[in-house]
Amino acid sequence: MANGTLTIDLDALVQNWRALDAMTAGETAATVKADGYGLGIGPVARALARAGARSFFVATAEEGAELRQVLGPGPAINIYSGHMPGDADMIRDLSLVPMINSIDQLQRHLEALPQAPFGFQLDSGMNRLGMEPAEWAALREIDLGREPTLIMSHLACSDDPGAAMNAAQRRVFEEMTAGTGAPRSLAATGGILLGPDYHYDLTRPGIGLYGGLPFSEALPVAYLELPVIQVRDVEPGESVGYGMGYVARQPRRIATLAAGYADGVIRLLSGKAQVYFGQRACPLVGRVSMDMIGVDISHLSDTPASLTLLGRQQGVDVLAEQAQTIGYEILTALGRRYNRRYSGG
Ligand SMILES: *Cc1c(COP(=O)(O)O)cnc(C)c1O
Repeated sequence: MANGTLTIDLDALVQNWRALDAMTAGETAATVKADGYGLGIGPVARALARAGARSFFVATAEEGAELRQVLGPGPAINIYSGHMPGDADMIRDLSLVPMINSIDQLQRHLEALPQAPFGFQLDSGMNRLGMEPAEWAALREIDLGREPTLIMSHLACSDDPGAAMNAAQRRVFEEMTAGTGAPRSLAATGGILLGPDYHYDLTRPGIGLYGGLPFSEALPVAYLELPVIQVRDVEPGESVGYGMGYVARQPRRIATLAAGYADGVIRLLSGKAQVYFGQRACPLVGRVSMDMIGVDISHLSDTPASLTLLGRQQGVDVLAEQAQTIGYEILTALGRRYNRRYSGG
């Protein structure tokens, strides 16, 4: 079997949610967009709901529809992208709650579904989603009569506690929401770690649940084991992989492993990353191919059946740094070809 095995530790996921929940006084929701950050929205959301999460956030109504199938009636499902054209049936039939981002979206929502609950997303400085302060000021009085379920905004720099932007956005959010009486939310994972000033009534962590920075105390959730397809001896002067990306200077023993850039082993990891046999690191040699990588196992006495890319030895953020990206991208890039196993939960 030439598929890697991706094991997702649902007990660790739940412990990460509990740890973040314990830091805040208000409600702790869960962000499960992009298929639960690539780890599988079904098992992830079910485990979190069993652990006590009552509110979930996804990016789109389509994701919300999938999540409703998973969770059944009960938990709140909120949509960051708000109410887009074509969403009305899903919002009504599946009780999704759009976070309204603009006057256009508000009109669309009220025309199609005048009775359906909604929240507001405000732009406090990131300039990505949400109503601008001036737009909000013009609408505020009318809108609040409709009792939004939540008023939320998002921080641009919450992974950097030293960034002045955090306090600046909090001030804008305060000004925009003071006296509204509606429940408020500003913090994702990074915002929770910034402290109680940022917590308000509800937090919406994502990455920290899945074991990624900036929640440095998170337990790892994703484990990835790659089978060895073939092993060969390479003589000095021989090359490995596309473009002769690696040339052996001494006799080397090279293993070919079953995962490549189509599986989320980002090509920038060529010649940089390592895989592990127990505690022993084995460097990637040559270029990452679509379905395979080459690894130097000369220093191992046995030929392993498989090697570890993600595990206790190295987590998503080690690979992220080597690939000049972030743990979020490593997780959401994990491909469809792995055999997925869910433990615990
Ligand atoms: C993705 C997202 C979150 C979760 O962020 P993390 O950094 O993964 O905790 C929260 N709020 C919004 C608006 C998001 O887009």
